[in-house]
Amino acid sequence: MSRYDYDLFTLGAGSGGVSGSRYAASKGARVAICEDSRVGGTCVIRGCVPKKLFMYASQFSDAFGDAAGYGWTVPEASFDMATLQAAKSKETARLEGIYRTMLGNSGVALVEGRGRVIDAHTVEVAGKAYTAERILVATGGKPAAPAIPGIELAMTSNEILDLAERPARLLVLGAGYIAVEFAGIFRGFGSAVTVAFRGDAPLRGFDEDLRRRLATEMTNRGITLAAGFAPASIEKAGGEFIVRGADGSELRADAVLNALGRVPNSAGLGLEEAGVRIDAKTGAVVVDAFSRTSVPGIFAVGDVTNRIALTPVAIAEARAFVDTEFGGAARHIDHALVASAVFSQPPIGSIGLSEQAAKAKGFDVTVFESDFRPMKNTISGRNERSYMKLVVDRASDKVLGLHMIGVDAGELVQGFAVAVTMGATKADFDRTIAVHPTAGEEFVLMRTPRKD
Ligand code: NDP
Repeated sequence: MSRYDYDLFTLGAGSGGVSGSRYAASKGARVAICEDSRVGGTCVIRGCVPKKLFMYASQFSDAFGDAAGYGWTVPEASFDMATLQAAKSKETARLEGIYRTMLGNSGVALVEGRGRVIDAHTVEVAGKAYTAERILVATGGKPAAPAIPGIELAMTSNEILDLAERPARLLVLGAGYIAVEFAGIFRGFGSAVTVAFRGDAPLRGFDEDLRRRLATEMTNRGITLAAGFAPASIEKAGGEFIVRGADGSELRADAVLNALGRVPNSAGLGLEEAGVRIDAKTGAVVVDAFSRTSVPGIFAVGDVTNRIALTPVAIAEARAFVDTEFGGAARHIDHALVASAVFSQPPIGSIGLSEQAAKAKGFDVTVFESDFRPMKNTISGRNERSYMKLVVDRASDKVLGLHMIGVDAGELVQGFAVAVTMGATKADFDRTIAVHPTAGEEFVLMRTPRKD
């Protein structure tokens, strides 16, 4: 009999915490998990899921617009935010219920309240101490609040998902995932949207061709891009927000979204006091490849470790941790090849190295690309193009990077990610017979390299 109450005690019932806890329980471990907010975490409650529901809602405006070319007469459409909010809240509540049921069915004990690590084997929740052989910190992240006077006046991704009314003018600060996703969503709802960012194009780190094309498509949709704008202050005056830039310029709006990044949720958990190393610059819990912190017995996965802040990465890290610690098979995940989608409008899907990153790493690359008007847009008259790109290592013929901006990019890249993960070569792509007529077939029909 173990001298601990549990074999595993997890802090945070988000994607990483829930999946790791359930998986450990399936291996026979006695597991408890604590949560001080809603079960499901950022992804289910205030991130991926409600965001994507909002995206679907916003895309009806495209569908109504495109319908006429196909012979439909659609009466003038109107949008009711309250209806969407009610439906979204019902759906997240349903999912939270499923998460709770799944935890219960797996035999994981749910402790409601904020956990605090006391030592390597003790967690305190609401005044009660729980002991465990291992502790897993999976407390996620939260919106960053850079030192900009008035930043607290801006909404974050948490609040924008609960807005009761659609703002007439929305100003989005930043141009990362969250910024471009909400910009597209609220433009689709009919808001006048401005995206203000300090760089020269959205989505720093993505392939330059995708960035440039996203900027063009966002502009075509009527979104104003204020590049080179570094926010210096925010104030509210006369019912509107005034955001001043470092260069003295000024932007005004009815609502402001702070999409200036996210930070790990590592403070106030007793971690440093227990000896767990926290990165002073990022606030991340420092871990090794096996998600071990500096304190034996304490582990961390997901956004709190600031490796790659994506739900599937947190889940994969958690499962690798469980296999290693409870399954007798030490393994860790490969963070080098992780596909992701940005639900901008049009969306982006990407895996592997951008052309610029491949060159920076010293690869001699051949680039294949396809730029086309999707078939649906011919009759509808919509002026939106799709673009695909393969970055191929000339020496080995291996596909180093696969990138797309266009309808269904996320779905397509998920499929191709298997091939890229397996180390597919361009010759493998070439011998794959196309599925016609689809957009995805373009990925296997690129025969002529770009002339550089
Ligand atoms: P990102 O890191 O993607 O973007 C942050 C943006 O804020 C960048 O444009 C950055 O500019 C800017 N910024 C940061 N600090 C400042 C500052 N002080 N002044 C001016 N600009 C600033 O963060 P997000 O919050 O959008 O998303 C966080 C993470 O969550 C993502 O990286 C992703 O991992 C995950 N996510 C994934 C989604 C998906 O899979 N679809 C959806 C949403 C989030 P610069 O580039 O110049 O540094």
